[in-house]
Amino acid sequence: MPHELLPGHPHIAYKNGDLYVENQRVADLASQHSTPLFVYSKASMLDALAAYQRGFAGRKARIHYAMKANSSLGVLQVFAQAGCGFDIVSGGELERVIAAGGDPALVIFSGVGKTRAEMKQALQAGVGCFNVESEAELEVLSEMAISVGKTANVSLRVNPNVDPQTHPYISTGLKGSKFGVAHDRTVQTYQRAAALPGLKVIGIDCHIGSQIVLESPYLDAVDRMLDLVESIEAVGIPIHHLDFGGGLGINYNGETPPAADDLWHKLLAKLDARGFGQRQLMIEPGRSLVGNAGICVTEVLYLKPGEQKNFCIIDAAMNDLPRPAMYQAYHAIINIAIQATNTPARGINDTKNAIVYDVVGPVCESGDWIGRDRTLNVKQGDLLAVLSAGAYCMSMASNYNTRGRAAEILVDGDKPHVIRQRETTADQIRAEFLINV
Ligand SMILES: *Cc1c(COP(=O)(O)O)cnc(C)c1O
Repeated sequence: MPHELLPGHPHIAYKNGDLYVENQRVADLASQHSTPLFVYSKASMLDALAAYQRGFAGRKARIHYAMKANSSLGVLQVFAQAGCGFDIVSGGELERVIAAGGDPALVIFSGVGKTRAEMKQALQAGVGCFNVESEAELEVLSEMAISVGKTANVSLRVNPNVDPQTHPYISTGLKGSKFGVAHDRTVQTYQRAAALPGLKVIGIDCHIGSQIVLESPYLDAVDRMLDLVESIEAVGIPIHHLDFGGGLGINYNGETPPAADDLWHKLLAKLDARGFGQRQLMIEPGRSLVGNAGICVTEVLYLKPGEQKNFCIIDAAMNDLPRPAMYQAYHAIINIAIQATNTPARGINDTKNAIVYDVVGPVCESGDWIGRDRTLNVKQGDLLAVLSAGAYCMSMASNYNTRGRAAEILVDGDKPHVIRQRETTADQIRAEFLINV
């Protein structure tokens, strides 16, 4: 029997003591492609998407994958082929959508600081909607639309002022946030938007935060959004679509976020009760579509016992997996090979010989840790897997310490597709110059 590591994610599992992603043995991938190595399951991504699709069955709804979670072309291709639109936050992301075969008409352009050049690029490509976040941005967008002879479809990102009860760096819908139009200025801002010649108001959106594991912030946000829609429509501005953003959390360390379909059944009941259930609906999930579809495989370089701490030094670092350093985030770390009998959930089967380690990378920063106080049974040369590494890892990866970014493999059943080759130093210094002396 395959042993599932995370409930609901059957495609990343131990079989006879070896970790597999779909039908690929992780050890084989690591020996072929070396480490650190990201490995993704296409079936996991499609399962996560299917939960949303079930939730919206029979509705006018569209799912826009928030691609900043993982913007690798092969990942975008999976969602484009599955019929998703995309939520983008830069001109660069728009180019990625197009390169992956996505349809710009199904793109929503979000973000507080779009430049004129990005607006122009997006208008020319024909993006479906701009999610605008301030009055100043409305003015500039209208001007840019007129200058290229187009009309920009706009939605205003409203700030519903609800606390998503998540990490402060990923809370975005509170009053003090840089995101969104303030709740009490919303109607005025809509009136301004409706009066600008280059714009066509088509929707409203909100996005209250990320890694949300409770239902209640969504239920509150939906109510506050619908209140706003009623007041905007009362002044004669019709709102064609309602976009509820992303933010649904995943299980990193035993969290129990609502399932996407259950959550949406509840939210839709609320929308129906208030007469909005037949509107065009949109959502922008990121993490919940890809986070638990990926792992990062890494080798134990050295074990360094100490008086106060034991260190397990691995070849992946904060440049590959930035979330622990940025948000003190937790990623489970497991052995990729364990004895076949009595398989435990976290990859240790011989707890007798296990030792507590801080798992750290080679980068010259004390903040370069991947896991603290982890009980592991490891020796030098062993391979470990860092779980839940599909979202906000590769897309946040950097070249700090002149480390090349890792390779990425997307597994589709029996087939491992290389979707990114390991970055070389030549790749890194290509756009640099020595000065002329
Ligand atoms: C980041 C972001 C999302 C996706 O958030 P997740 O927590 O990854 O689902 C959606 N919409 C906007 C506007 C965002 O900035």
